[in-house]
Amino acid sequence: MLGDDSEIAGWVRSLGLPGLIDLHVHFLPTRVMDKVWAYFDDAAVHYGVEWPIHYRLPEAERLAVLKSFGVKGFAPLVYPHKPGMGEWLTQWAMEFGSSTPGAVPTATLYPEPGVAEYLGAAVAAGARCVKAHVQVGSYDPRDPLLEPAWGLLAEAGVPVVIHCGHGPVPGEYTGLKLFEQVLMRHPRLVAVLAHAGMPEFDEALRLAASYETVFLDTTMVGTPFSQRMSPLPADWSARLADLGDRVALGTDFPNIPYDYATQLRAIESWGLGEDFLRRVLHDTPARLLGLGA
Ligand SMILES: [Zn+2]
Repeated sequence: MLGDDSEIAGWVRSLGLPGLIDLHVHFLPTRVMDKVWAYFDDAAVHYGVEWPIHYRLPEAERLAVLKSFGVKGFAPLVYPHKPGMGEWLTQWAMEFGSSTPGAVPTATLYPEPGVAEYLGAAVAAGARCVKAHVQVGSYDPRDPLLEPAWGLLAEAGVPVVIHCGHGPVPGEYTGLKLFEQVLMRHPRLVAVLAHAGMPEFDEALRLAASYETVFLDTTMVGTPFSQRMSPLPADWSARLADLGDRVALGTDFPNIPYDYATQLRAIESWGLGEDFLRRVLHDTPARLLGLGA
C-alpha cells in the first residue's frame, strides 16, 4: 500500500511503469491562478466545505513536485468562466504546454462566435487535449455555437476532458444525460468524463459502457474528501473491472485539499490489481494524449 508523497516515485517503479501520465492537472497564468486560489479560500461559502489548496506553490516548484512523483506526462488544463477568455487562454495553454517539459499543448472552448476558429487553429497546431467546464462556464453543451467545435474534435480524435457532472455543486446545465445529447450527435467524440461524472457515477459507468469513445478520469474520485460528499456506489470496483481500458489518471493537481498520494491510494484501494493500475496510471492516459503506449 502506497504511503505518502515521498513514496510515489518508488511505488510507480515497483509497478514496472516508466512514470505516471496525469491528464487532468491545472496550470494557469499566475494572475488567473491567484484568482482561482482566492475562490477556493472562500470554498466554505461556495461549496459548503473548506478547501485548503495543498500545493499552493510558485509555478516552478509545482513543476518540480510533479517531476519528483515520477509524472512524466501531463495535460495542463485551462477553462474560461465567461465569453472572451477562451481564445487567449488557449493560446497561453498551447504555448505553456509546448515549452514545458512533460506537458502537452491543450486548448479550451466556450460557446461564442469564433470558437471553431481558435479551437481549430489549436488542433491544427497540435493540441493534444481540450478542457470543457460546463459547471464553471455555466453554459449549455448543446449550444448551437459549440456544434462545429464538437464536430472538429470528433473529426480530429482529440479528447475533451469535460466537467459536466453536478459536482461540487450543480450548475444550470450540468448533468450527464444532458451531455449525452451531444454524444448522440457526435458519436465519435472522444469524451473523458472528469471526476468520473461525480456524483453521477452510475450514469458515467452507463455512458462508458454505451459509447466506446467515452472515458472516465479519476480526478478526486474515491478520496476521503470526496467520499464524504459523493460516495462511490458499493459495486464501483466490480463495474470498473469491465472498463479497465477506459479509465485515466486525473488529479486536479495542484488545487486539491490533500496530497497527491491520497488520490493514488484511492485508486489502489479499488483492489483491481497491478495490471489495472498500469493501464489507469499510464497506458490509457498516454494513449489519449498521443504519448505512445
Ligand atoms: Zn479540474
